[in-house]
Amino acid sequence: MSDLIGKHAIVVGAGMGGLAFAKALSGHFDHVTVLDRDTLPADVRPRHGTPQARHLHVLLAGGLTALNKLLPGIEAELERAGAVRLSSQDAHLERPGFDPFPQRELGVSWLSISRPLLEFTTRQVVQRQKNIELLGDCRVREFIASPDGSAVTGVRYECNGRNETVSADLVVDASGRGVLALAALASTGVSKPEETEIGMDIAYSTAVFECPEDAPPSWKMVMVLPSAPNDSRGAILSPIEDNRWIVSVSGNHGDVPPGDAEGFLEFVKGMRTTTIFEAIKGAKPVGGIIRYALTCSARRHFEAVQRFPRGLLPVGDAICRFNPVFGQGMSVVAQEAVILERLLSARAGDIDPLDGLAPAFFAEIQPVLETPWGIANGDFIYPKTSGQRPADFERRLQFNIALVRLGAQDPSIHKLMMEVNHLLKPQSALREPAVAERVAKLMAAPA
Ligand SMILES: Cc1cc2nc3c(=O)[nH]c(=O)nc-3n(C[C@H](O)[C@H](O)[C@H](O)COP(=O)(O)OP(=O)(O)OC[C@H]3O[C@@H](n4cnc5c(N)ncnc54)[C@H](O)[C@@H]3O)c2cc1C
Repeated sequence: MSDLIGKHAIVVGAGMGGLAFAKALSGHFDHVTVLDRDTLPADVRPRHGTPQARHLHVLLAGGLTALNKLLPGIEAELERAGAVRLSSQDAHLERPGFDPFPQRELGVSWLSISRPLLEFTTRQVVQRQKNIELLGDCRVREFIASPDGSAVTGVRYECNGRNETVSADLVVDASGRGVLALAALASTGVSKPEETEIGMDIAYSTAVFECPEDAPPSWKMVMVLPSAPNDSRGAILSPIEDNRWIVSVSGNHGDVPPGDAEGFLEFVKGMRTTTIFEAIKGAKPVGGIIRYALTCSARRHFEAVQRFPRGLLPVGDAICRFNPVFGQGMSVVAQEAVILERLLSARAGDIDPLDGLAPAFFAEIQPVLETPWGIANGDFIYPKTSGQRPADFERRLQFNIALVRLGAQDPSIHKLMMEVNHLLKPQSALREPAVAERVAKLMAAPA
């Protein structure tokens, strides 16, 4: 039996989300067109449509697993392209009370690579799929709705100065902001989704360095967590292709990392620990300092929208945007694409496989969003973070403090924490009775 459920699918956006979804759709539609407003570069370089790509972009182990499912062989291609393999043993983590946290081999590994190279390599692999067409310089202006407003039936876009209209059975909005999907809901008389925000007000600065010859042999990456709520300065140093280090530093609620090289170094020097400062103070910079600011993590509750139009599917950041310091966005969107692929396969034999697809998709991805969103809630540790602080936040905080103590003592708990942070397991795994009871004992005991 054929897995085909439609003739044409359009994906708006050729970022990591758009590429993952294009592949997920390609087995179920005759033709998949991906439209991006940017020129899609023929070599490895950042582009305007993804300004965040100049900052450190961790592809978590959970995201790598999902990408591997969608694009078998991608992991080896990324390594051949220059990605650096990291394991827990290579990661030097400094967190308050544990400077450093025990560095152990736990069987979790991931790849460290610049976002432009990750996207370039993924794009090349996706392009090999015969029925996927990637078109750059095509800015989508609007989604077209059926006269009765019950469905999205195509898009209007501008390509090299020409206006084009194209119809499709399914339009996926992987444009990041989701503005087009929201406009389509408004034009079809469907109410906007409710939005939950966590106003963590974060500012980022990033620098790249040549890896010095005297780089410490005891680690390949370093992560420094702040002593919140009194201090919000965090940093990650990670290796990327071409023997370089990328270093992203951040601060919340007005502690803004500077945009000049001298100020950047001063900021790093002023952090809780000096590990990263000592590593980079003599290293040769490659390019200047890049900055970024984000006011909030934001989650749109499309799952609660009634009469969601047929043929429309917002995905990735258009649904949920997370505090980037946790490195989750690309992994979440890849996991969402795996879910869509599974849904489409299951519906292939149905009389009308596209009927109710979006609500089914929104329902299925909620467990995927739950863990990163739970982690994002940790930003309520800062009194200035706006939004709805969970009623049990203080208890969750105490639980986490005790969990970290337990993880430092017990490698099996450490491994579980790592698997949750890498989106390999749900956060609820940390609340299983066998773990929770041990944590509760520690909470009752003095530190
Ligand atoms: C500073 C920062 C650091 C981050 N670090 C990490 C990290 O370490 N790890 C991680 O997993 N995630 C990280 N993220 C999040 C990550 O970048 C996103 O979650 C991820 O890119 C998935 O987003 P997306 O595909 O939905 O959208 P994007 O990647 O933003 O792609 C959207 C695409 O749509 C195109 N587009 C937009 N509008 C139109 C239009 N009208 N017509 C045609 N094309 C259009 C754009 O050109 C772009 O190519 C970080 C984010 C930020 C801001």
